[in-house]
Formats: sequence, structure tokens, C-alpha cells
Amino acid sequence: MKMRQLLLSSLLCLISSVGFSAEYKVVNQVEYQAVAKKLLPGDTIILADGVWHDFEIVFKGKGTKDKPITLTAQTKGKVILSGQSNLRLAGEYLVVSGLIFKNGYTPSSAVIAFKYNDQELANHSRVSEVVIDEYSNPDRFESDYWVALYGKHNRFDHSFLRGKRNKGVTIAVRLNTEASQHNHHLIDHNYFGPRPTFGSNGGETLRIGTSHYSLTDSLTRVEHNYFDRCDGEVEIISVKSGKNQISHNVFYQSRGTLTLRHGNGNVIENNVFLGNGVEHTGGIRVINRDQVIRNNYLSGLTGYRFGSGFTVMNGVPDSPINRYHQVVNAVIENNTLINVDNIYLGAGSDSERTSTPKNSSFKNNLIYNQNKASPFTILDDISGIEFSNNLANFKADFSQKALSYTNLDLQQDTNGLLTLANTQVGANLSKILTKTDTGPAWYSKADLAIEFDTGKVISIAPGDGVLAEALAHANSGDIIELAAGEYIAHKILAVNKTISFKAAPNAQVLILPERSSLFEIQNSGSLKLDGVHLSGRLSPDSSGNVLIRTQKWGMYKNYQFVMSNSKVTDLNVNHSFHFFDAGARSFADLISIENSQFRDISGDLLRLNQETDDQGIYNAEYVVINNNQFAQVQGALLDLYRGGTDESTFGPHLEMKNNTLSQVGLGKRNKLKSAVHLHGVQHTLMEYNQFKHSALVKVEHTVGDPKTLIRHNVFSNTARPEVVELIFDQKPTAIFHQNVFK
Ligand code: CA
Repeated sequence: MKMRQLLLSSLLCLISSVGFSAEYKVVNQVEYQAVAKKLLPGDTIILADGVWHDFEIVFKGKGTKDKPITLTAQTKGKVILSGQSNLRLAGEYLVVSGLIFKNGYTPSSAVIAFKYNDQELANHSRVSEVVIDEYSNPDRFESDYWVALYGKHNRFDHSFLRGKRNKGVTIAVRLNTEASQHNHHLIDHNYFGPRPTFGSNGGETLRIGTSHYSLTDSLTRVEHNYFDRCDGEVEIISVKSGKNQISHNVFYQSRGTLTLRHGNGNVIENNVFLGNGVEHTGGIRVINRDQVIRNNYLSGLTGYRFGSGFTVMNGVPDSPINRYHQVVNAVIENNTLINVDNIYLGAGSDSERTSTPKNSSFKNNLIYNQNKASPFTILDDISGIEFSNNLANFKADFSQKALSYTNLDLQQDTNGLLTLANTQVGANLSKILTKTDTGPAWYSKADLAIEFDTGKVISIAPGDGVLAEALAHANSGDIIELAAGEYIAHKILAVNKTISFKAAPNAQVLILPERSSLFEIQNSGSLKLDGVHLSGRLSPDSSGNVLIRTQKWGMYKNYQFVMSNSKVTDLNVNHSFHFFDAGARSFADLISIENSQFRDISGDLLRLNQETDDQGIYNAEYVVINNNQFAQVQGALLDLYRGGTDESTFGPHLEMKNNTLSQVGLGKRNKLKSAVHLHGVQHTLMEYNQFKHSALVKVEHTVGDPKTLIRHNVFSNTARPEVVELIFDQKPTAIFHQNVFK
């Protein structure tokens, strides 16, 4: 086989010398450099199978339509670019395929750039069947793109992009010079795998243009792509240019929306949004002129406000280019909306956004809600939207004739989508895209994330160094089960996998750290504690110990910390002994504490307050504190902080139920002077808690549409909760209901 290939390639080289195409196989960077200089139309350069470390590929050349120049892998999927690698292509009719970028990150501003520099761009070129998997800069706020499209008539297709964790759009179409405008790019058949919640602006999956060039047409087509749990931020796709076409894509359980943020004349058709009831799943948000939204199927979407299943915005009169242009001539027709919780019309109406939608139509749409409740919220004058021939199974409360109320008898089609027979109303989609229609066939789309308690049980009994040893030998997903007795931790336990520490049935387990921390959650780590007693009795006699903390730098993967049925005591050997401290730039998907007891703590319990630069960044998406008892805690139980005015995130969210607090937050070193301090938290539910002789609850609303519900709590010898609006001059919007003050 090898001999034949060798013969074949020498034969091809020979032929090339008399004017035919050559095929060059290279095994190292020096060979690549030598060959890359002499590429002619029709030539192919083949990277040998294996790992190429720190390889910044420059691929330049002038192919022709019939004789492109190709860069590919010896075996597709067997060539791995790792470390500080990237690819820049420039010239005409170039084709790249078969490469994998993983185990590293780009040292430059893009993993794949369709340009060499600002003068030399790629045109008529194609990057196909490439993989960029978890290739994220370890500094979460160091921004880059994974794919940056410049030039014209380029195609990016059948590729796999998963797990971008640092700031920056996954794919950006740039229009920053004339040579990249009216570009007619095609982005198709790609698999966009999970992008975790970023916890700040800059987590979009695809952006076409920027506000600066948004009145320029891009003419980019985005077709047949699968967006699988792209949860980065409120915009999954941000269209910021004109005349793009987004069609036949599937958005599966993705938090956020396809937003027509800037630019006119875009067409959104034949797309499917499947939310399956997942929180913050959204659909389409319409802004600007001449937008067409046709024949889309939206189902099970729970998002609200700008993240709704469907939103038509108000504009700003004579809007600056970066604000909101009025919706004019929007055509919204033949869409099906099934169990979409919210449809907002005139959204964003306020003293600045006063231009209501104009000359627009909403027709032949089918809207069905199982609960028969109207999803519509009308926020301003919508007389500029003409409604006709829409069917719904509920009565519209805003207009008699906007929707025809009927008992919709829907049928499931061969795709599993609901349709109404014998009618021109609603979407009609012949075949919907599946995951397997996208990405390279040779790369697995199986999830990487490992859940708690999915591995084996490792049983241990007290002994010297047993905790560290068990942890070192465990695999991600394993459960370390502790027999009864005392465990002394001589070392800080570094958690860099998904791991559970669990007391054996009915076992009394006491863990005593001897260092300033017991656990450090590191990158790739998630920690679960169940049924254990943690005591600070043997901790060093100095101030500022932290029982559990995250890694201090490079914590770019989201993590979870879950504790239940446990006990934490004696964190008081010196002052300011904290229970949990999130490091700066760390981000928890979930912090949950349930059915546990805390007593005699000289510091704070949950310090989720490290992002003090007020750029809309925060430390935890979901915080759950249920059924616990807290007593004699000098510091605060919780400080959850999200500063700034950016509106690109969903959280933070807090649920706090059925807890008893007794003497919490009254220590003289507690600068917050509160037991619970919430700043910029978007969702708060606080109910059935008892506050006894404790510091107050302080809630500071900033931007967004924060929802705070405080009900059925008993406050004895505790000041009333304080709620303030810091940004908007309005009455606090928090809801208080049936609280008792004694
Ligand atoms: Ca954004």
C-alpha cells in the first residue's frame, strides 16, 4: 500500500513537471514550508498523519476554478494540530479539508482565518471537514474567533466546532473592508456542538458583520447547520449586515435567539427551533427593515423578553448605527409556533425606543399552546403590523381579529413536527436536518461532559493519605465512598475531574483539613459531597482560610459544586474562615447546597463576588440553597454579584427555600452588613425561609428585567429586606408576598 502510494506520488510529481498537477506529502513543518512556496493550480499538499505541534500554517496560492490548490490530511481525522497552531489561507481557489485542531489554542486572533494579512485575503476558497474541538484559550477573557471569514465567495462546510469557552464569536463573517463586503459566503452543513454558558457578552456562535458596517450587504448564506445546545449568551446568531439568508438550520435546545440585530433585507426561512422546554431557549428577534421570516417551526421555547420565542422590537427614532433601527416592512408568514411561552411585540419600548413597527405583516401563522394561554405580550402600539389569516387555539386578548380562535386538531408529520392538514397556514417543511447530516462523518458527536455518579464506586476507610490517593486513582464520574471514621487531609485535594465524596450508608464521616483549604476545584473539575461532616478544628491558626475554593488562574471550564446531607462546623480557628470562594474568572454552571447544616463560621459561606470590574461578568449561573440550617455565621451566607449594564446573559439565578438562619451576618468584619447580598441577579426566588436575629437581605437591581420574588418568609429580630433599583429611576420591581416580620 505504502509502496503504491509512493509510486503514485512520484508519478504525479513527474507528470506535474510537464504541466500536470502535483501531490506533495510532507512529514514536518520544514518540508511544508518548502513545498508551500511552489504550489501551482491543481497541486495538493498532504500532511502526514500524526500530531503537528505548534504549527502556524500559512496556505497561499492561486488556483483556478477547475484546478484548485488543496491542503488535506493523509487520512481525514488523523492529522491533529495541537498546541499553538492555526491556519491562515490567502489567494484564490484554495481547498482545505480533514484537519483537527485540539489540545491547545490559537496564539493569534483566529484558529482559521480566510486571510494572511489585511491586504492578502482568500477568495473562492473552501474549508471543509475540519474539526475545532475544545480549542479554547485558557484565559476566558482573552478573545479570539475560531473561524474568521474574509474575502468573497468562500465556503465553510461539513465541519465540527465544539466547546468554545473563551470570549469571542465562534464564527465571524467580517465586512471590515470593501474586499470582504457583498461576499456571498456559504456556511453549510456544520455541526455546532455545545457551547457552554459564557456568563458575559461575547459568547455568540455566529456573527455576520458588526454594527459599524451593518448597512452594507453581506449576502452570506447559512444553511443546513445544526446548532446543538449553543448556550453561550442571548444571541446564538447575531446578524449585523444585510441580505443574508438563514435557512434549513436546526436549533436544538439552544439558549438564546437568532437576532436580526443590524442590517436590512435578511431572509430567515425553513428553520426549526426545538427548545424542549429547556430554560431560556428562544427563537427569532426582529429589528430593522425588510426582514422576511417565513416557514419556520418553533417549539417548546421558554425564553422571555429579548430571549423570547418570537420578538418584534421597537426602534429608536433616527437611531445611531449601533442602537435599534425601526422595524419596517417585516414579513412574518407561515410560521408554526408550538408551546412557545412568549411572543413580544413592541419589545424594548421605553423613552428611547419609541418607534413602533411599521408597514409590517403577520399572516398565515399557526400558534398552538397546550395550556391555551396567549403567549403574546404587547408593549406598544402595534397598528403597524397587519394581522391576517392566523390560527390559534387560544383567544388573543390584544385584538379581536389578529388570530382566529379555533380548536386546532394537529397531526404529527414524518419529521415529528405538528401540522394542520388541508390548510395554507403554518410551516410546511419537507425534511428536517439531523445531526448526522452535518459535520465530518469521521468525527464522533458523542458528548464529552461526564455527569456526577456515572462511574464506579471506590470504597475507602480512614488511613494516612487515603483521600488524596483515592482521588488520584479515580476516573471522572466515580464515587469515593467513605467508611465511618475520621479522615485527616494533610494536603489540599485538587479536584480536576468530576468526583463525588459520599459517606457509606449510615456511616459517620468526619473530614479534618490541616491546610488552609480542603478542596481546590481545578479546571475540568466538579465536586459533589454527600453525607460528610467537614470540620475546621485542625486548620492552620491564621486568618483567611477557605474550606473549598476554585483554582486561582486558568479556570476556563465551567464547573459544578453540589453538597447535600452534610455538616460544616468549626470554621473559626481564626477570623474570616470562609466556606466557599470562587476565584476571579471562574464560572459555575451550578452551586447547590441542600439538606445541610453550618455552624460556627467566622467568615462568609458563598463568596460569588469576584467579578468587580462591572462588565456583566459573574461567577455562577444557578445557585440553589434549600432546606439548610445556618447558625453562628459571622460573615454573609451569600454574596452573588453581577456588575455592569450589559444585557447579554441569562443569570445569575438564585433559588433559596426552606432554610433557617440564626445569627448570620452580624460579625463586625462583614462589610456587606447583610446576610444575603444580591447585585444584578436576574432571577431570585426566596421563600419559606426563617431569619432569626440575622443581618438583612439586600437586593440591588441593575439592568435586564430582574425577577425577584420574596414570599412566605419569617423575619424575627431581623431587618426587612432592602431592594433598590440602581440603574433605572423606578420603583423597585421586586415582589413581596406574605412575609412575616416579628
Ligand atoms: Ca452579544
